[in-house]
Amino acid sequence: MVSYLKSTPDSNGFFGDYGGADLPPPLIPHFKEIREAYGKISKSADFIADLRYIRKHFQGRPTPISHLKNLSESSGGAQIYVKREDLNHTGAHKLNHCMGEALLAKYMGKTKLMAETGAGQHGVALATAAAYFGMECEIHMGEIDIEKEAPNVTRMKLLGATVVPVGFGGRSLKEAVDSAFQAYVPQADTTLFAIGSVVGPHPFPMMVRDFQHIVGVESREQFLEMTGDLPDIVAACVGGGSNAMGLFSGFFEDDGVELYGVEPMGTSSNLGDHAATISFGEDGDIHGFRTLVLKDDKGEPAPVHTIASGLDYPGVGPEHAHLHKIGKVNYTSANDKECLDAFYALSRQEGIIPALESAHAVAFAMREAPKHPGKSILLNLSGRGDKDIDYVVEKFGIGEPA
Ligand SMILES: *Cc1c(COP(=O)(O)O)cnc(C)c1O
Repeated sequence: MVSYLKSTPDSNGFFGDYGGADLPPPLIPHFKEIREAYGKISKSADFIADLRYIRKHFQGRPTPISHLKNLSESSGGAQIYVKREDLNHTGAHKLNHCMGEALLAKYMGKTKLMAETGAGQHGVALATAAAYFGMECEIHMGEIDIEKEAPNVTRMKLLGATVVPVGFGGRSLKEAVDSAFQAYVPQADTTLFAIGSVVGPHPFPMMVRDFQHIVGVESREQFLEMTGDLPDIVAACVGGGSNAMGLFSGFFEDDGVELYGVEPMGTSSNLGDHAATISFGEDGDIHGFRTLVLKDDKGEPAPVHTIASGLDYPGVGPEHAHLHKIGKVNYTSANDKECLDAFYALSRQEGIIPALESAHAVAFAMREAPKHPGKSILLNLSGRGDKDIDYVVEKFGIGEPA
């Protein structure tokens, strides 16, 4: 039997009905170049050796897994474990794919990296990778986001990146994508466009998954070594879906392991109040690929809300849409309130301040644990929460003593 990962996506970048590359003509040759280069370079022994070296000596991999004894006890039931991507350099999983993309750029002879960013997390990770390789870096960011996320803008600049403010339309992520793609075309000979999740046109959903796969491989091995067994339940938050694909892909061949993606339910299940794309989306096209999309009554991508800006996207990686359709992964949600409760609980009870994105997965575990006594739940703690503390404390206070 050919394994799921080896056979998916197909050669056109489709995961079942979802994915592909539906591009404006000027971009077609550049994505073809990336696809062919990735296919060849990523399998070369030199590339693999370089990536292993970087992961170990720059990123600090392998990241550990931790048993959350106190939270397991207070939740009652299953034992909860976390994969510590908060301890990956720069404090989140995003550097895993940014270092891979930058290394690919180097092998392709490119001298510059380019991307859009929403809250700035992808921009910071990519600027870090560019600095490491001595490459130029250009990040497009909406003016509204620049105002909201000042510390990340400072980080990108300190790391040597140029931040291009985007002042048209809603002045946010969607416009930043349009602006970055436009600026990319005339520079594509020297520049690699680096997408920040398992989204976008083929080959990015596959390539970003491959670079995040290490999270699942390490987790499976470490969990076995720590407990002598595999976890019963594996879960991760889903925005575009890269941290979830990384973790899940380590367990696809383990039939006894149940996989759960946790989407942000925001303040309510009304359109506009959440970003739970798989729970409420319809088939559609967004940013050059086919997937599930949250649509407004005109069929356009709908406005979304969640307390975690990294999960704020009206689409989702095409592979998640596929895994949902074939029933290989279960998708559920946690709302803003549950996320905050989990944020405070993990901080007070375990000494780990989680990113608000990751706190959605923690909320899921706290809710599920009582239903599964004697079982184990492994979560991806995709990032640390330093970036969120000012916002949370100003808006919601310092939390109740444990
Ligand atoms: C960006 C981000 C996410 C969401 O991205 P995915 O591609 O869905 O993983 C989750 N957690 C953290 C800490 C992030 O920075």
